[in-house]
Amino acid sequence: MSGTLFVVATPIGNLADLSNRAKDVLAQVDVIAAEDTRHTGRLLSHLMLRKPLFALHDHNESEAANTLLDRLERGDDIALVSDAGTPLVSDPGYRLVTAAHDRGITVCPVPGPSAAIAALSAAGLASDRFTFEGFLPARTAARKQRLASLATESRTLVFFESRHRITASLVDMIDAFGGDRRACIARELTKLHEQVVRATLTNLVDALQRGDIDARGEFVLVVEGCRETTDSAYDHDRLLTALATRLPAKEAARLAADITGERRNALYARLLELTPSK
Ligand code: SAM
Repeated sequence: MSGTLFVVATPIGNLADLSNRAKDVLAQVDVIAAEDTRHTGRLLSHLMLRKPLFALHDHNESEAANTLLDRLERGDDIALVSDAGTPLVSDPGYRLVTAAHDRGITVCPVPGPSAAIAALSAAGLASDRFTFEGFLPARTAARKQRLASLATESRTLVFFESRHRITASLVDMIDAFGGDRRACIARELTKLHEQVVRATLTNLVDALQRGDIDARGEFVLVVEGCRETTDSAYDHDRLLTALATRLPAKEAARLAADITGERRNALYARLLELTPSK
């Protein structure tokens, strides 16, 4: 009989957020696969647990997954944890979980904290439909291109962002979405200096620049979706003109065609109408 792979969520700041079930599972498994064994070692000390730890991170995941899968097939139960929050949500574990399914091993989630869902729950923005966008590209050109491709997305957008790029990303969002779009900065969630601030994108940048929102710590950005969804031709115009500010006309039309499913030639012709100088 194979063992079970438990995917265990751990706190994103406040240790009291670890569920009783997560604690029981960590106490029962034969080995814990952790992103950073020292970090997880501290959590286990807090819980007064001693367990064999096995490192599984972005740089060794394929190799580590094979070792763990062999152990699962021999009957060991294994818990997968990341440094904070839910594994696989912008964290390692995808290769292990998908390979476990391929080998017929039972995968069992032990749900709990995730910064994305915690931010969404407190953001005060529509939460009936949302899209999780993870981290934006670090390079400016790629980030602007990604944001342009999201300009007409009507679902609420959830991004992870690092403190080094929080202001730059918001400024790029003003370019792509307009400064009046509402958004929420959820900072240091569940920790001592937690801040959850909802305002327009422009006002959030001002608040960061004034220091009303501290630019240190960990951030989730939740951004209202595009509200102009009734007239799709109008949406296409916005998308085309936004892309054309960054890309040559043919490239803008090609990307708009990929995004909207419309014909590239028609979009190119429309772009020339909208911006004759192109
Ligand atoms: N898997 C984790 C989860 O489910 O929350 C996310 C891991 S990802 C590598 C780390 C990012 O999550 C941080 O850069 C930040 O954007 C966000 N994050 C994690 N903890 C946070 C917190 N306490 N407050 C705000 N954002 C947080």
